[in-house]
Amino acid sequence: MAEASTIAFHTLGCKLNFSETSSIARLMENEGFEKKGFDELADVYVINTCSVTDNADKECRQLVRRIQRKAPAALVVITGCYAQLKPAEIASIPGVDLVLGAAEKFNLPKHIKALAKGDAAKISSCDIEEVNGFNASWSVNDRTRSFLKVQDGCDYNCSFCTIPMARGKSRSDTISNVVQNAQNLATKGVKEIVLTGVNLGDFGKGNEGGKIIEEDFFQLCTALNQIDDIQRYRISSIEPNLLTDAIIRMVAASDKFMPHFHVPLQSGSNAILSLMRRRYKRELYAERVQLIKSLMPHCAIGVDVIVGFPGETDAHFEETVQFLETLDISYLHVFTYSERDNTKALEIKPVVPINIRHQRNKILRQLSYKKMEDFTQQHIGQQRKVLFEGHVKSGMMEGYTDNYIKITLPLNPDWVNQVIRCTI
Ligand code: SF4
Repeated sequence: MAEASTIAFHTLGCKLNFSETSSIARLMENEGFEKKGFDELADVYVINTCSVTDNADKECRQLVRRIQRKAPAALVVITGCYAQLKPAEIASIPGVDLVLGAAEKFNLPKHIKALAKGDAAKISSCDIEEVNGFNASWSVNDRTRSFLKVQDGCDYNCSFCTIPMARGKSRSDTISNVVQNAQNLATKGVKEIVLTGVNLGDFGKGNEGGKIIEEDFFQLCTALNQIDDIQRYRISSIEPNLLTDAIIRMVAASDKFMPHFHVPLQSGSNAILSLMRRRYKRELYAERVQLIKSLMPHCAIGVDVIVGFPGETDAHFEETVQFLETLDISYLHVFTYSERDNTKALEIKPVVPINIRHQRNKILRQLSYKKMEDFTQQHIGQQRKVLFEGHVKSGMMEGYTDNYIKITLPLNPDWVNQVIRCTI
């Protein structure tokens, strides 16, 4: 394709996908493409898919249909985790022109040049075992906050998870590259960097010019902590078994690393954790929370939980509820288990009926709401630093405190993209 000049993106799934879409968009802009909104007319549409989303296939089909109605001559490219997992299925969706797997998504400019509308969909994808390169990515939407990808892939094999099949083995950027990227973001006016990865705590498996590099996440955080021009860092999510004392103590001592952790628990029952092939027991989790709160009583702690995993009885679920009730945490992200092809969890019986899965989800969402309210209440009257974002809704602006409490105030343009001390 030679004359195409406009391109639009749609991203499904996690922050990692968003950071990658941003980077792919910048690559295309460097090639002379003008970026458009997904609802606008464009010559090329790219959908960056997710394998965690429940209805990835359905969602993808709907989006392609929308594009076809609006711009029947436009090229349609599908990439991302779902494209890596099910390339043939996606290629069979009417209207799709190109399917790019994990190793090829950053080669979009090259592929677009060779593409013509009307041919059968091309698939450019390789075996996930062969994917070993690392592409640094970051998003710079309204410049306030950037999601910076520092790690990709995962060597764990949690029994419910398809991510290792979609993203490959654990690999990382080098500390020196991440520091350079953070410094570049600072020059663009970014105030907060959210460190992002698939298994962030596993940071450090990388190579540079063929030379194996062994670094670790604590060393990365320590190096970033020394950059003057970035005011804030957040750690997007970290496995409890990789959240070391050293990292917790470093965050407690730093005025740049925000007092906020997001730590997946998945279940409060050791029996279920074992079926999930998680690498810790609930006791370790409780001990991590205790250490965080003893050093930073104001620290926000978010928790991922999966409900309705096969084998989860009422008693197991009750164990999870009680465990979460006693934990000094701030909010939950609740996921309802759903079956995924080629995962070990499919062999585990008995399967939990869908209506029970939904009931359990509702119970934990209510608990999350209560935890968030309690956490906010604990801070009423306190002064905390808020970074206000450029996104304005009905004359109001939003920002987050250091410990992740959302603050909404009437718009004051002087405060946008600034850290301001506010009374909660
Ligand atoms: S740690 Fe487990 S859940 Fe997380 S990406 Fe790796 S395999 Fe999936």
